[in-house]
Amino acid sequence: MPLLTNHIAAITGAGSGIGRAIAEGYAREGARIVILDADPEGAKETQRLITAAGGKADVFRLDVTDREAAHKIADEVTTKVGPVSILVNNAGINRRNPITGDDAAVFKDWDDIISINVMGVFNVTHAFLPALRETKGRIVNIGSIQSFVHVRTPNSAAYTTSKHGVLGFTKAMAAELGKFGVRCNAIGPGLIETPLNAQARANNPELVRIFLDHTPLGRPGKPEDIVGPAVFLASDLSQYVTGTIVMADGGYRTI
Ligand code: NAP
Repeated sequence: MPLLTNHIAAITGAGSGIGRAIAEGYAREGARIVILDADPEGAKETQRLITAAGGKADVFRLDVTDREAAHKIADEVTTKVGPVSILVNNAGINRRNPITGDDAAVFKDWDDIISINVMGVFNVTHAFLPALRETKGRIVNIGSIQSFVHVRTPNSAAYTTSKHGVLGFTKAMAAELGKFGVRCNAIGPGLIETPLNAQARANNPELVRIFLDHTPLGRPGKPEDIVGPAVFLASDLSQYVTGTIVMADGGYRTI
């Protein structure tokens, strides 16, 4: 029996990497998928993959930094598809530059990363709150090992700050929405091979080595490695789980 039958799952950044894998995984478990992405081409490809496998998916173009658009799209989704019962706040960016670098670059990194990774999570969550309350829904936020650590991941102050923020927001939402039957949890991926870090992996093998030296399972993750935890947190398997983060990091935080 599929685990997400009768659910409607909205996933931001589902046009690539981890978001696409979660979208395909949720569709396999019977959910109808709402792909929310700023990248229309990637979003359409995710829709094609889901449809080809016999699932259902709709695409809505959304830049998560646009609060007004998030509310408009949330209303449109409710009208055209139905009330969303699972929201995955996955869209995110990263850049690795030292805070001691050129001011203009430091300011741009800070503004872009905080806008997408923190404000975006708030914008989309707030926009879908009526639907999530109606359905006693589940929110899954994508954190990171950088929701906890920074020392081995230098030159990414804004990203570390943003992912600590995602974890804080996860706990706050769990505390505040529990009385409505809405659960909120996070996933903390380790190094997962996606377009997000393709350039860093290609240009900085030392960074990859540092990650793998601290990864007991001895390999980088694939987007598919995040699907199991994401299904667990969206399904009734986790009906008494809220306010926590499931690390999917090959054991990175243990050493
Ligand atoms: P990815 O392959 O780059 O996918 C991210 C998706 O989000 C892309 O489709 C991107 O579109 C979209 N996006 C970016 N900005 C957006 C915006 N303002 N509004 C809507 N969509 C937007 O990255 P990923 O590795 O799968 O990352 C997904 C999440 O996992 C992120 O939150 C990331 O921080 C987190 N994470 C990743 C890793 C890792 O090692 N990969 C580790 C820990 C946590 P464009 O292509 O047009 O930018």
